[in-house]
Amino acid sequence: MSPKKPQKNFLKNQANILVVDDNPDNLRLLSKFLSQKGYKIRNAINGNTALIAVKATHPDLILLDIQMPEMDGYQVCQILKNDPETYDIPVIFLTAMNSVIDKVKAFSIGGADYITKPFQLEEVLIRIENQLKFQAAKAEIRQLNSELKNRVSDRTVELEKANEKLKQEIVEREKAEQRLLHIAWHDSLTGLPNRSLLIEELQTCLHRAKKEPDYLFAVLFLDCDRFKIVNDSLGHLVGDKVIIAIANRLQSCLSAEDTLARLGSDEFTIIIRNIQDISDAINRAKTINQELQIPLKIEAYDVFINVSIGIAIGNATYEKPEHILRDADIAMYQAKKLGHAHYQVFESSMRDSVLKRLQLETDLRLAVQNQEFYLNYQPIISLCTGKMAGFEALVRWQHPQQGFISPGEFIPMAEETGLIVPIGIWVLREACQTMQSWVEKFPEFKLHISVNLSVKQFRQPNLIEEIDQILAETKLNSEYLKLEITETAIMDSAESANRLLKQLRARKIKLSLDDFGTGYSSLSYLHRFHLDTLKIDRSFIGNISDDRESLEIVEAIVTLAHQLKMDVVAEGVETLMHFNQLRNLGISFGQGYFFAKPLDTESAEAFIRNQPQW
Ligand code: C2E
Ligand code: CA
Ligand code: CA
Repeated sequence: MSPKKPQKNFLKNQANILVVDDNPDNLRLLSKFLSQKGYKIRNAINGNTALIAVKATHPDLILLDIQMPEMDGYQVCQILKNDPETYDIPVIFLTAMNSVIDKVKAFSIGGADYITKPFQLEEVLIRIENQLKFQAAKAEIRQLNSELKNRVSDRTVELEKANEKLKQEIVEREKAEQRLLHIAWHDSLTGLPNRSLLIEELQTCLHRAKKEPDYLFAVLFLDCDRFKIVNDSLGHLVGDKVIIAIANRLQSCLSAEDTLARLGSDEFTIIIRNIQDISDAINRAKTINQELQIPLKIEAYDVFINVSIGIAIGNATYEKPEHILRDADIAMYQAKKLGHAHYQVFESSMRDSVLKRLQLETDLRLAVQNQEFYLNYQPIISLCTGKMAGFEALVRWQHPQQGFISPGEFIPMAEETGLIVPIGIWVLREACQTMQSWVEKFPEFKLHISVNLSVKQFRQPNLIEEIDQILAETKLNSEYLKLEITETAIMDSAESANRLLKQLRARKIKLSLDDFGTGYSSLSYLHRFHLDTLKIDRSFIGNISDDRESLEIVEAIVTLAHQLKMDVVAEGVETLMHFNQLRNLGISFGQGYFFAKPLDTESAEAFIRNQPQW
């Protein structure tokens, strides 16, 4: 590239011109004339001097004589034009010769112009000016070009940056999309696939099974046993850690082909692909239960968690992945019934029992609307006097098709579905009403009516208002009413339980702790909540005649109750032997088939009238 010359050099006054001529007269003449015109002039008397002068300072233009001894003007010009440093300097040839061939030569080697001698000074001047203008214009174009180039390259850099940024944004967006997809398909706590992804995976397995009749896969449905206790005793934060630890432990039991998913709370599912037969799935279930024998280390705790496992074998007979999952769930439910840490393989008969249960749930809903319930009353007898002290109201369901259904079957279902709340309120109203009618008929007897209150009911925020309203409606004096609650009711939320119990006590409503000995049997809360009565569960009473341990437990409970100034009711008194034994233990009340089975309203009324005596 030619050296860049500042534009001002081309201004006439300062332009630098080298005049090369072996004729000193010519040199003098031109120098004088051009100096007068304001140019800076240097002279060279031959080619070599000219080249040295050019090297020293680049002239803006050269007037170059062609005919010189040693090195002629063409040679000088050629050297200059071959050198990139000097290539761009305009050369105007001066010559006496006027042949066409020489002019052509002059231009072909890079001459800018051509002046023939003898010259007119004015012509020289104009040609010089033209060349300088041309040079200036060229420089300007060069300048503009380079500016343009710079701008283009700046712009290119900007565009590249913008492009880079765009690429970055696309990458970010893709990442965000991936994250969203991950969230949509995974459980946030454990990072495991969630139900949606599991269903997709099962669908794939099912497709394969439809194509390859020999292809079998297994679905294991896992549910942690008594996980609620972990949450209740250690708190939800620790509970979450336990879930993560279980997920890790389960993962360690799997092969790379298997899929572990979390369905929610303490439920997990495993797909085992490509099994030979059911024994592969059973072995996996056994391994899981074995692995879970090793405690999970969570903070300072050693946590033992068992799982109940339902197994369903996936094959081409299934239409939908959800159905396989449902069957594994049903099998798990059966495994739960066997106790902790069991597995069950799905059988179609299980589905029938679930369907039956579902039907029963629907029927139970209708039973509330259609008032298919009635009450039985089971007498409670004072073991000291041998006379009756009251009744326990027990609900009964007369199913329109199936006939009598035991509360042992439908009460847990009513608890699960929440239907126990309206049922319980109905029971309370009905029992209070009947009791009030007996109070009016038999004013001489001081009896009480015990009504069972389920955990769900106990937690209803408007329970007290409901009780007040029922007492007001039925006009029953609240002193006749006794509520039977279980340990779970007060254990779950001690504070609100305490508030509620205070309100009940303020109304002189008595409180009885039902099924004592079967639950937590925590002494500390027995102390804290001043309850009136302890009902010893009938599982202890049934055995006292021939099981020392049961007898000792009953003795201990009685001692404890008396220290806490509580009455004791023994449930399930079935024989005279029970009766005598319990009386000897100092137990105040008894209830059981020995005295009477639960009675319908009329029989119960006859019972009061007859005043039986033991
Ligand atoms: P529970 O409160 O422990 O009621 C006593 C149960 O023992 C009753 O069973 C009663 O029939 C039975 N029973 C009484 N004496 C004997 C006996 O000598 N031997 C034997 N083996 N059993 C005896 P039932 O009526 O089947 O009630 C079962 C459970 O259902 C009740 O146990 C109670 O938890 C629940 N339940 C019954 N009625 C109601 C109710 O109105 N509301 C609520 N929430 N639960 C109720
Ligand atoms: Ca009871
Ligand atoms: Ca009981």
